[in-house]
Amino acid sequence: MRIGFGYDSHRFDPSRPLVLGGVTIPGAPGLAGHSDADALLHAVIDALLGAAALGDIGSHFPDTDERWRGADSSALLGAVAREVADSGYRIGNIDATVICERPKLRPYIDAMRGRIAGVLGIPAGAVSVKGKTNEGMGAIGAGLGLEVHCVALLE
Ligand code: MG
Repeated sequence: MRIGFGYDSHRFDPSRPLVLGGVTIPGAPGLAGHSDADALLHAVIDALLGAAALGDIGSHFPDTDERWRGADSSALLGAVAREVADSGYRIGNIDATVICERPKLRPYIDAMRGRIAGVLGIPAGAVSVKGKTNEGMGAIGAGLGLEVHCVALLE
């Protein structure tokens, strides 16, 4: 078994739609970034790559590369899942925590789990997504952006 950890953070950019875990959340400020800025999927990608010691999201999809401008991070996650499988690993489970003051994520959690599981080809029961606030502390608490922590187990 191999464990991997992923982290990502993005600033809010109200001019963009918010896409988290492959799910568009209406009425919430989006995230700044080169791709669709889906910080949850980016943290999952880094957890998977980390577990397999295959580098990181920046080495696979550099933000200097025009190919990835506005990219659907679900497609990036799918590509990473194939690379992990090609390296001989099977995904055991994913556990992620999204930290932001707003929006409230609870109504979207199951949709995110289903979307991530679908892209990875694993049961939704093997994907956990949790939402927290930062209790008003620091940059996240001030509402400047959101951050995500994720662990992944490979077998
Ligand atoms: Mg990112």
